[in-house]
Amino acid sequence: MSFVDVAIPVPLRRTFTYRVPEGMTLQPGHRVAVPFHRRKVAGFVIATRDTAPEGVQRVLSVAGLLEEEPVFPADLLAFLDEAARYYLHPIGEVLRAAAPALPTGALRKLRDDGFLEGEERIRGRAIGTVRELFAFGAVREVTVRLGARQRALLALVQERGEVALTELRELHGPSARSTLKALQAKALLSLEEREVQRDPFLGKPVDRDVPPPLHPAQTLAVARMAEALHARSGGGFLLHGVTGSGKTEVYLHVIEEAQKLGRGALLLVPEIALTPQLAQRFRARFGDGIAVLHSALGERERDDFWRRLRRGELRLAVGARSALFAPIEDLGVIVVDEEHDGSFKQEEGFRYHARDLALLRAHRQNAICILGSATPSVESFHRATEGNLTLLSLPERATTQRLPDVETIDLKRWRPASDATGPRGGASLFLTAPLLRALGECLTNGDQAILFLNRRGFVPALRCFACGAGVECPLCSVTLTEHRSAGELRCHYCDYRAAVPTVCKTCGADALEPLGLGTEQLEHALIERFPEARVARLDRDTATGKNVEAVLDRLRRREVDVLVGTQMVTKGHDLPGVTLVGVMLADQSLAFPDFRAGERTFQLLAQVAGRAGRGEREGRVIFQTFQPEHPAIVAAARHDYEAFFRAELAERRDLEYPPFGRMIAVRVDAPDEVVAKRVAEELARFAKSHPATARGELKVQGPAPAPIARLRARFRQRFLVRGERGPLRQVAARIANAIDEGLGNARASVDVDPVSML
Ligand code: ADP
Ligand code: ZN
Repeated sequence: MSFVDVAIPVPLRRTFTYRVPEGMTLQPGHRVAVPFHRRKVAGFVIATRDTAPEGVQRVLSVAGLLEEEPVFPADLLAFLDEAARYYLHPIGEVLRAAAPALPTGALRKLRDDGFLEGEERIRGRAIGTVRELFAFGAVREVTVRLGARQRALLALVQERGEVALTELRELHGPSARSTLKALQAKALLSLEEREVQRDPFLGKPVDRDVPPPLHPAQTLAVARMAEALHARSGGGFLLHGVTGSGKTEVYLHVIEEAQKLGRGALLLVPEIALTPQLAQRFRARFGDGIAVLHSALGERERDDFWRRLRRGELRLAVGARSALFAPIEDLGVIVVDEEHDGSFKQEEGFRYHARDLALLRAHRQNAICILGSATPSVESFHRATEGNLTLLSLPERATTQRLPDVETIDLKRWRPASDATGPRGGASLFLTAPLLRALGECLTNGDQAILFLNRRGFVPALRCFACGAGVECPLCSVTLTEHRSAGELRCHYCDYRAAVPTVCKTCGADALEPLGLGTEQLEHALIERFPEARVARLDRDTATGKNVEAVLDRLRRREVDVLVGTQMVTKGHDLPGVTLVGVMLADQSLAFPDFRAGERTFQLLAQVAGRAGRGEREGRVIFQTFQPEHPAIVAAARHDYEAFFRAELAERRDLEYPPFGRMIAVRVDAPDEVVAKRVAEELARFAKSHPATARGELKVQGPAPAPIARLRARFRQRFLVRGERGPLRQVAARIANAIDEGLGNARASVDVDPVSML
């Protein structure tokens, strides 16, 4: 071996060959420094070779070994390589994102050699590092005059030596920051921004629990999977269990089996911040030997977990999407909980699907893969009916409670009560009499309710009733949402903010009217209607990071009577006090220009309905909708997954949408509309000119403006290509190569097996 192929973090789908210097031994997975365009960069050895590739004139030498041990074990490296190829993403970037940051020693070595300024920029990407501002070192002798607020703040910092801004905000309100700055300007204290460890999961000690005896359906499922585990035969399983059927208990048992065999395990969840309970249940069963890879972790903690897993000190990891790349030794089982959830698909950069890759990784390592859901994706259930996944069902709830009854209310037949005042399209339209009555009863009984509305903000759109113009984002082709407590309009795509206009910008008329309803307004309306009820809101405006857990905690402690929220409230929360679930507008997600709109609607509705009646008291669910006959809504109201699946599958077959045939999406954007269009048409030609095979030809849809035609001041075009896997891959590769060659000021991406249609 005298040469190595090295993956370098550059946006190119290739590796680079280097000579191995005398006396250095390298193997795949090693992190090395290599010269690259007069710089030195850190890369990973992908393969070793005896000769340089043909036609290469001058081969440079590896400059140094950065870490003694290979960062990636061989099997993980090969898996990542295959994943990068499948999704047509540069392997160097994939490895950089998956790897821990360079240790400080190695970093210094690179710097001392005079290369690589700003290595920070190419190290492993921090996942949601939390930065926090601290005030410290307050001066005792104050000779200048201070305001009351300044004095109070300073006194606190003097007393404590160091106080975090978050805490000061809680005590003194949002102006704490400017007060601090004023004190700093007077040299009375210092400010420093630091990374902090925010660990909502590992902070608290957890009592170990005793597993309950399993129900027969659970026992059967565990036995089937344990058998595959013992035989080391691998295999994929679809665990289809209604909400509250005890799927988690099954995961816990199978993982325990794996651990008894000395094998590792991985649990993937959609959003770990939304499921703190789940992580707690794992800790209660397995103690502290778990790497909990959540987004609130600082880079250092994440890297620490990574290295402990790599060394085999920890064998069980729980985390969101990217935890799939955790280096777990002798992996025995991968669980993908809520496998239908869209968050398993990464929508930028390396556009992978963690559920699909989980099946691949498990297959490569003879591990079993469990996909669990009450509402499996059409793709997964189809695989199960075709025999490519073993279907295991938990048809009943694990507790004594049955699934709640669902009542559907046709919004076309409801008019706001005569006493309703307020703006057109406001909350009164959606607070129907049956819903209000149910809420009243629920509150009288001392129970809790969840109201689901998938729109944050106060008013989703403003329209001029004189000329018809909407108030749009100047950078994106979407309407601006009014956020009343913030007193501004916001774009939910680019975060543009503006003052709320009083007159129409187009015609000048004083005729702007609010359209539709957002969670903020619903919360206000409820407080007005039920002044004695404690109402809380869970959406991306109120709940970030640790806040989510705080809201859910208050709910669990019964300090909240009604929870209003977006999709966040539909996730797998186990809240025994909730007896009423109301869906404000069940057909809302049907309007999306997406062939999965029906599927997503069914999943959202079935999931949120499943939050009701998990405790001792029976649950009740109300779906309000303008389309009460829609099959997705009818099936969700009956808790009938298979009826939904059959109808949906028939439609997909007719239209040749996945799982019938594959799909890629190509997106192009440019500052100029004409350029975006031209580039999209050039790229689409690769697909349109591809020769038909015996199994048919590729179908090209578009190019056409994307559903959001303008985003952050760039015009967007999109086309879809559908067809058989083989020819589709060839075309995808040709398009990707054309993109690599450069498109001027246009940008483009290929999305393999796309989820988002936007
Ligand atoms: P899922 O993951 O399917 O939503 P969970 O595993 O969270 O369901 O189970 C729902 C509830 O039922 C939990 O409170 C859990 O403790 C309980 N449970 C699960 N399995 C059993 C069992 N075999 N016996 C008694 N209770 C169970
Ligand atoms: Zn915008």
